[in-house]
Amino acid sequence: MGDEFDFGRARRLLEENGFSFRHDLGQNFLTNAGVLKKIAGACGTDRGSGVLEIGPGAGSLTYYLAQEYRKVVAVEIDSRLMPVLAGTLDQTNIKILNEDFLKTDLDGLIEREFDGMRVSVCANLPYYVTTPILVKLVESGIKFESIVVMVQSEVADRFCAAPGSGDYGAITVFLNYFGKAERLFTVSPDKFVPMPKVSSAVVRITPAGKPASAPEDRERLFKVVTAAFSQRRKTLLNALASTFKGLGKPEIAGIIAKCGFRPDIRGERLSLDDFSRLADEIFSSIAAKTE
Ligand code: SAM
Repeated sequence: MGDEFDFGRARRLLEENGFSFRHDLGQNFLTNAGVLKKIAGACGTDRGSGVLEIGPGAGSLTYYLAQEYRKVVAVEIDSRLMPVLAGTLDQTNIKILNEDFLKTDLDGLIEREFDGMRVSVCANLPYYVTTPILVKLVESGIKFESIVVMVQSEVADRFCAAPGSGDYGAITVFLNYFGKAERLFTVSPDKFVPMPKVSSAVVRITPAGKPASAPEDRERLFKVVTAAFSQRRKTLLNALASTFKGLGKPEIAGIIAKCGFRPDIRGERLSLDDFSRLADEIFSSIAAKTE
């Protein structure tokens, strides 16, 4: 095989294996070498690093990642793609795992496969599990060098939204917890097979150098964020009161005031730092009650 991914060979292998695209698995494969190289190059990491890919499909992005970086581990849920990947990829620095990424033991995989290497994540994500995949990556607390993902264009806007804007939501805060999200470029539907209905965009999330926090702290923060956005039209007070039932409404109102927020504020106006302060106050009130 040469310096370029052999799309013709991939197409033949898909046909020979009787492959049909599964919409429910978000199977839209990229077929443009220029775009693939740009995504692979966006990890912003050095050649000695490792890359974790989620959903390699027929292996095109995997191929370009393996050209750039020391090792690529790609996790693909669809066993029908295993013979295809075996035929499209022959680089020795690639390992394919036939697993559902949502069930993968991520800590175990990183330790076993990357052994102290710096690791980035790079993926053209299946749209139907974009959020759970990113939440899993962030919740793991693993300090990836970067997370570069291609997602639907409007989802990319949500990732990069500012507090108070209509696109701002729980996922924005989760990603802010990991680092800074930047929208890099847009990719039109004609660069995929089959063509999706909407445009896609590539987003890079890089760690903001915050101190690593204990898993319990992350869990608490994420619980407060999830509660705040669980009912978007509700005020923060009502949204929190329906999750933290052990605390009365007046007590939650007191916490909101103590944090310096207006009584009728909504969750979408709070920044990550605001949520951190709020989570500290909520969980110290809960702890005081159980003492
Ligand atoms: N990387 C390829 C490309 O860019 O052409 C394929 C991207 S396609 C948008 C998403 C891929 O993710 C598909 O191959 C699909 O089978 C796979 N996938 C879907 N759900 C998955 C999951 N839970 N775990 C691992 N792979 C998954």
